[in-house]
Amino acid sequence: MTAKFKTNSVQTLTTDYRPLELEKEIRTFWENNRIREKLANFREKHNAGLLGYVEGPPTLNGIPHIGHYRGRTMKDLRYRWKTMQGYFVPFWAGWDCQGLPVELEVEKLLGVKNKRELLERVGEERFIQECKKAIMKYHREWVEADRKLGVFIDQDKAYWTYKDEYIEREWQYLKRAWEQGLLEEGHYVVAYCPGCQTSLSNAEVGYEDSYKMVEDPSLYFKFKLADSPDTYFLVWTTMPFTLVTDTMLAVHPEAEYAKVKIDNERWIIVKQRVEPVMQELGIEKYEIAEMVTGKDLEGTAYDFPFKDLVPKQAELEQKHSLVHKVITEDFVDINTATGVVHQSPGNGEEDFFAAQKRGVPIFAPFDDEVKFTSEAGTFKGVFARDADEVVVEELRKRGLLVSVKTVKHEYPTCWRSHHKLVWLARKEYFLRTDKINAKVLEAAEKVQYFYESPKNRFISFLKEGKPWCISRERVWGTPLPIWRCEKCGAKVFMSTKKEILEKAEEKPTEGFELHKPWVDRITFRCEKCGGTMRREDFVLDTWHNSGASPYARFTDEEFKKYVPVDYLTEAMDQTRGWANTLLLEYVILTGKAESPYKAFLFQGLTQDAKGRKMSKSLGNVIEANKTLDKYSADVCRFYMLRKCSPIETNDFDTQELSRRPYQVLSTLYHLSRFFVQNSEYDNFDPKKHTFDWAMRQSLLKPADLWLLSKLQGTVETCTSKLETCEFNSALAELEDFTIEVLSRLYVPMVRKELWTDDPETLNRRLAIYATLWQVLKTVTLLFNPVTPHLSEALHQKVYRKIDRTLPESVNLEDWPRPDRKMQDKPLEEQFQTLFKCVSLTYAARQNARLKRRWPLSKMVIVATEQVCSTLESVEDLLLELSNVKIAEYAQKAPEQTSQESWVSAVEDNLQVFLVSYRDERLLGEGLMRDLARRVQALRKEMGYMPTDVLDAAHIADLDDESINLLQPYVKGMAELIRTKTVHLHRNREEAKAEWHETQLDEKKIYVAIG
Ligand SMILES: [Zn+2]
Ligand SMILES: [Zn+2]
Repeated sequence: MTAKFKTNSVQTLTTDYRPLELEKEIRTFWENNRIREKLANFREKHNAGLLGYVEGPPTLNGIPHIGHYRGRTMKDLRYRWKTMQGYFVPFWAGWDCQGLPVELEVEKLLGVKNKRELLERVGEERFIQECKKAIMKYHREWVEADRKLGVFIDQDKAYWTYKDEYIEREWQYLKRAWEQGLLEEGHYVVAYCPGCQTSLSNAEVGYEDSYKMVEDPSLYFKFKLADSPDTYFLVWTTMPFTLVTDTMLAVHPEAEYAKVKIDNERWIIVKQRVEPVMQELGIEKYEIAEMVTGKDLEGTAYDFPFKDLVPKQAELEQKHSLVHKVITEDFVDINTATGVVHQSPGNGEEDFFAAQKRGVPIFAPFDDEVKFTSEAGTFKGVFARDADEVVVEELRKRGLLVSVKTVKHEYPTCWRSHHKLVWLARKEYFLRTDKINAKVLEAAEKVQYFYESPKNRFISFLKEGKPWCISRERVWGTPLPIWRCEKCGAKVFMSTKKEILEKAEEKPTEGFELHKPWVDRITFRCEKCGGTMRREDFVLDTWHNSGASPYARFTDEEFKKYVPVDYLTEAMDQTRGWANTLLLEYVILTGKAESPYKAFLFQGLTQDAKGRKMSKSLGNVIEANKTLDKYSADVCRFYMLRKCSPIETNDFDTQELSRRPYQVLSTLYHLSRFFVQNSEYDNFDPKKHTFDWAMRQSLLKPADLWLLSKLQGTVETCTSKLETCEFNSALAELEDFTIEVLSRLYVPMVRKELWTDDPETLNRRLAIYATLWQVLKTVTLLFNPVTPHLSEALHQKVYRKIDRTLPESVNLEDWPRPDRKMQDKPLEEQFQTLFKCVSLTYAARQNARLKRRWPLSKMVIVATEQVCSTLESVEDLLLELSNVKIAEYAQKAPEQTSQESWVSAVEDNLQVFLVSYRDERLLGEGLMRDLARRVQALRKEMGYMPTDVLDAAHIADLDDESINLLQPYVKGMAELIRTKTVHLHRNREEAKAEWHETQLDEKKIYVAIG
């Protein structure tokens, strides 16, 4: 055997596409040659423009799963693609380090159940150290997964939201809010989690589908009117504990209320609810005694029944004339329950506003664990929701309970700890984002979202425009930098570390950082009264940390250059999260109706193969690192982007990876291998054998020009689909071009021309290589943002191997642009007709069970003159592809074709007839092709290169008839299978060889090569 070139493992593509090995090798190449750094430096110096970017920082509180990496694939795709287009993108990492999610993770690690235990047992200083340790642990996991997936993000330039320099810049946002009167302290009803012992922001209520079906009591009870005997308001609630903090009843001012007579009592209920409520309570005997309007009821006093249990309630009644009276409010829903709503300003948002505007005191006797304080009398020390039962019992004792049942309803729980949330009036700090809502909406409208549904979801969330409660009673977070005077209540806002250190009463010791407990130890002297100023004991909502990143992660100069950033992409749930806080903070910072991002793509959720949400409790989390150890990064990347549109839910199924996605990449791999082996054999030189050279020498055939024309359309479609974030459509186009156009249509048209090593036709072969060089190389570039490892491997082992002057990495190549000069629509249509005709010959063969490999003598094409002449102009290809010796054309089916020996197929107005009869010559050639195919398979199996020329091929156990038929084709066969000689034997004894058994139409035969 002779080999035209020696195998070199680094430089050569292995026989099979083995992506895991290949990717490992490519990553090493990138790292050893610092390709990522070189790319970034190159584009920083030579670029077509800057595209700002700020990383949506993953929270370092857990192991990354494949859903995270769907998003990171989209980010990396954009980076590689835009970089190839010549842009500089500061694709720098960032990590969200603080806040509740991390604290909860560390609490779990330390085995503490709540904040009190944490402070007593662990202490703040150690806790902060543990938090830092925990984030570093998860950071390693993320960096590792980034590496395995080939995410070209700059890890060295990462920002960390817990670092002092970041915190200082985050404070600048707050300072602006403070100066504009947008940062306020106030009592406010907030959603509070008894488990995490902190309030939640509006954005967190309902976050990550945290509404759960829960059971609650559902009870009707009555409050007696103070001045009318036997008359009651009928009220309904699912939260009996709020009766402890009840201060008013509300009715709708315009609604009509009925006094319903039941036995000796009268119950007040809104008119339209009388019948349904009576039915629900099973009361048949009742009559409406009197009608009044809501307005008439205003000011009516009722007996609060628990004054004995909660003495403070009696005090409140003395303090304000509206306590335990009826008020009228438009928000009262008259179509549910009884239309009479009891008001607990300490436990409800609407109730709170109703009380606040009337000056009614807010009664909220709760501690940090949402247990009642001593102000709640008998209830002292009871957890709010545990008071439900006591309240029901007390109502029963007093004869005020009408009915109690259990209801199952959707109720918001904490998205982290899954405790039922409680609404509580607490002292908090707010960003009055409600005051800037118009600007925020205007800014949001200017952003490009690519898809309508997430845009609508985002805008409608923003329209709620509620104030943002940014204070958290936690430890590991950015401290609220406000100090308050113990004596006179004056406040100061400190916005830098320098300022804090300069003005501190006592200079801090070493190790000072902008965290609790160190900042809490700093006190100032009040300028107004000389009193001691202490820090307001809050940290900031963690969403405020990441929302500050466009300013906080950059220097002033970078901020000016890169913000507003060009494009961001994050998961769909960030409509309530990061997309929201980025926007709010930026409007506060700049005072302008401008968003910090010009475009935002929200990504759909990733679920498990069965379409279930990934969760720790189900044990179905697909961990990124484990997955990438087992499966190819490129195949995963291609799969995640190709399977569905980026906003759709993706059910990640590892079983699917090895199917179509692998096939597509493997086809590109083998096409490239086919090209490199053949072109090297013929000493193709892309510098010499250029496309222009081939044109000048008239070496290009219609098939080449057709392929080049198709390529331009693919480049164009692929680019425009990436531009609109239709990644799946862009890849569908690429996939179709690779599998259908290149592999299934073009290669069969030129394979025979490439097969020979006849010096006479060398130039034609070189012209085909010139075509393939251009086409395959372009396709490799188009694939690069999606399958960077494969594209780099092909760049190194195919293109750069042939042309050492190419850039060091595929990433330094330019993104292809369509060449309109090469686009030839009439030619594409002509080929469309050709392929249609060829596929009709296949259909006709199938009817007569004639293999495509078997040559046939003649075909007759019946079609319009125009179609016929189109086909005639590419007759060589037509005959080659349909494996028929001659073609005839007609407008009407000739009479002979009605004979039995003809088979046909038809589509639209194109009909094809084939002569099915084969004479000895055709039978011999067909048999030769059958055998050649078996030898080829054996060559491949035994690891020979297609270009290797073997000494001999032996075929044994053939009958006499077959040998006779084959005799005229022995030489042709030798050429076809690249052996010097071919020997035919009746049985195996005739030659000493290593025989391989194979089948030829149910008959056993034997083949040997070497
Ligand atoms: Zn919680
Ligand atoms: Zn003072």
